[in-house]
Amino acid sequence: MEQFTHYFPRLAELIVFHEVSTPLATASITGHRQGSFYGLDVTPERVTSDALRMKTPLTGLYLTGQDVLSPGIPGAFWGGILAAASIDPKVFMKMKVI
Ligand SMILES: Cc1cc2nc3c(=O)[nH]c(=O)nc-3n(C[C@H](O)[C@H](O)[C@H](O)COP(=O)(O)OP(=O)(O)OC[C@H]3O[C@@H](n4cnc5c(N)ncnc54)[C@H](O)[C@@H]3O)c2cc1C
Repeated sequence: MEQFTHYFPRLAELIVFHEVSTPLATASITGHRQGSFYGLDVTPERVTSDALRMKTPLTGLYLTGQDVLSPGIPGAFWGGILAAASIDPKVFMKMKVI
């Protein structure tokens, strides 16, 4: 806040509430390693890992979310779609372009 006030003094006067989030805050809320916003580290190992596939060797156990596809909300969204499609590929037939 000191730095913000230094660079933006007129904006700083207008602030009525502020909350500071750090990787420690993210770690305590999400449990992600080192407070990463986007889950697992995005490394070649992650992308090519056989452990991060929708279908698992356990019958009836599927994985979904950002960690099986790509980081962020779009990645989590498509992770969900692809997990559903791993169970029933006809799920794509139900998707409509609006
Ligand atoms: C502060 C912050 C800001 C972000 N801003 C953006 C942004 O602007 N744009 C963007 O694209 N992405 C953003 N992200 C990333 C985005 O939130 C994630 O990519 C997305 O939420 C991942 O979705 P997910 O379904 O894979 O996992 P999550 O949303 O993490 O869902 C996992 C769920 O599983 C639950 N869970 C965990 N362990 C267990 C267990 N053992 N038993 C039962 N339930 C469990 C958790 O409580 C949680 O509800 C942000 C993330 C953070 C932390």
